[in-house]
Amino acid sequence: MKLKTTTKLCALSFSVLIALGACTDDSNKSDDSKSNEVSQVENTANISEGALASEEKAETSSEEIDKQDYSRFDIYAPFTLTSDLSHLSDNQREMIALLIDAGKIMDNLFWKQAFGDKEALLSSIDNPKAKTFAEINYGPWDRLDNNKPFISGYDAKNKGAEYYPDDMTVTEFENWDQAGKKGLYSLVQRDDKGNLTLVPYSVAYKEELTQASDLLRKASELAEDEGFKNYLKLRADALITDNYQPSDFAWMDMKSNPVEVVIGPIETYEDQLFGYRAAFSTYVLIKDLEWSERLSRFAAFLPELQKGLPVDQKYKQEMPGTDSDLNAYDVVFYAGDSNAGSKTIAINLPNDEKVQLAKGTRRLQLKNAMRAKFDKILVPISEQLIAEEQREHITFDAFFANTMFHEVAHGLGIKNTINDKGTVRSSLKETASALEEGKADILGLYMIGKLYEKGEIKEGELMDNYVTFLAGIFRSVRFGASSAHGKANMVRFNFFKDHGAFERNEKTGHYSVNFDKMTQAMNKLSEKILVIQGNGDYEASKHLLNTQGIISDQLAADLELLEEKQIPVDVTFKQGKSVLGLN
Ligand SMILES: [Zn+2]
Repeated sequence: MKLKTTTKLCALSFSVLIALGACTDDSNKSDDSKSNEVSQVENTANISEGALASEEKAETSSEEIDKQDYSRFDIYAPFTLTSDLSHLSDNQREMIALLIDAGKIMDNLFWKQAFGDKEALLSSIDNPKAKTFAEINYGPWDRLDNNKPFISGYDAKNKGAEYYPDDMTVTEFENWDQAGKKGLYSLVQRDDKGNLTLVPYSVAYKEELTQASDLLRKASELAEDEGFKNYLKLRADALITDNYQPSDFAWMDMKSNPVEVVIGPIETYEDQLFGYRAAFSTYVLIKDLEWSERLSRFAAFLPELQKGLPVDQKYKQEMPGTDSDLNAYDVVFYAGDSNAGSKTIAINLPNDEKVQLAKGTRRLQLKNAMRAKFDKILVPISEQLIAEEQREHITFDAFFANTMFHEVAHGLGIKNTINDKGTVRSSLKETASALEEGKADILGLYMIGKLYEKGEIKEGELMDNYVTFLAGIFRSVRFGASSAHGKANMVRFNFFKDHGAFERNEKTGHYSVNFDKMTQAMNKLSEKILVIQGNGDYEASKHLLNTQGIISDQLAADLELLEEKQIPVDVTFKQGKSVLGLN
């Protein structure tokens, strides 16, 4: 559920937001990801309404208000997506070009899944801004405003996108006796007799998927890393057989490849009707070797930092693992689902639970995409809301470190309750994710502080991380407070304010961090969260979210100012072979 306007934000307390549905805590489902767009309250809605609406298109279009000046056409700031390719061989560069070509096919397939006929839509739009906005949204609906239509003549988007027949009802689907009907890799269509029938992606999109498969196979011949070569071959097979599991296993075995690709049907958020069917997507990635090396070095400090946590001994008895599969990348191509609407800055895959159980997951942090959000959004926000004399502490290094250490810090703390209530996750129920995200945010900052003390981080200063952290809360909360990350953000914002970690100057409307009080507040909130988790105290967790999780009128007004100043909400990428010099 996306809550964009501040009037909506202040009207909702966390108890309401929690009731709307539990959220996930995976890094790829953060504030910058797609999960927020899934309107969980409406999952059971009947799409036949959407079908009715589209039949009435011809009549309604002439009466529609003119949407030529839709105020949101400028919410995405353009950013050129590049990376240093100088360390790559000619073969690797050629391989990247092939992967981008395969990605373009995924892009067209996602258009089919999300809307239908891309060319028909785009050629019908005269206003260039509206056309660009349609390209960004992969259809005539505003993804960051609950899929509100912005082109005359279009009504509500089908919850089931183009995965199901327009006239299919939920009841009809539920009564349908068909094996595999909840599958990830098939469409539901009607046969000649009007009965529902399953059509595998490999059949429905045979031509496109065969081309993409050929491209991946060609790319595999150029791959120098054996693990990557194997993955590409298996992925090429998967596209034409719908059997993705072997390639997901192979993906988990890759460790040393400098080029990376995530390609195929991946996430299921586009299917807002049931969340069953996967959307075509691509990320082409270049590994940031230096940062990846630093991250594994920092992960080695986890056991030592665990011992120093500001909480009673019994809450820090578990020994954190040190071999987290966490790496930094530059993305050089987003396509399809990953490129629609808001842009992800972290990936956590695969989703296949069998693979996860056997091998875990890999976490990929997307550095240049974070840079885009920093330059285009965080800095302009700071210029409105952070005290002038503290703005020098808004740095990209701090922004990146805060995000990275959030991920590492999931490894700190406690996974099992200390009183035989089982896992923290199960005992805290629907509040578990918000607490876990809150923990990771704050212990990430704690880790950074400790690594400064130890001289492990040399550039910048802790104050950069603090001030950038505060500005980051303003950025995130604009995505709404309904996700686990959003809830965690608001709890921390209010807790910090109550403890004097920052204050707001009434005259200027600017916020400034108080370094010492921020450190104290961090320690106190860390302790509070770790104790609730360790005790598996569901009531206390609910209480914390309900009492601290409200967006105050003051904050709502400050966020309103960001809208007035037209600070971009997200970014859109200029990308492809030409910007990389690969033509
Ligand atoms: Zn997290």
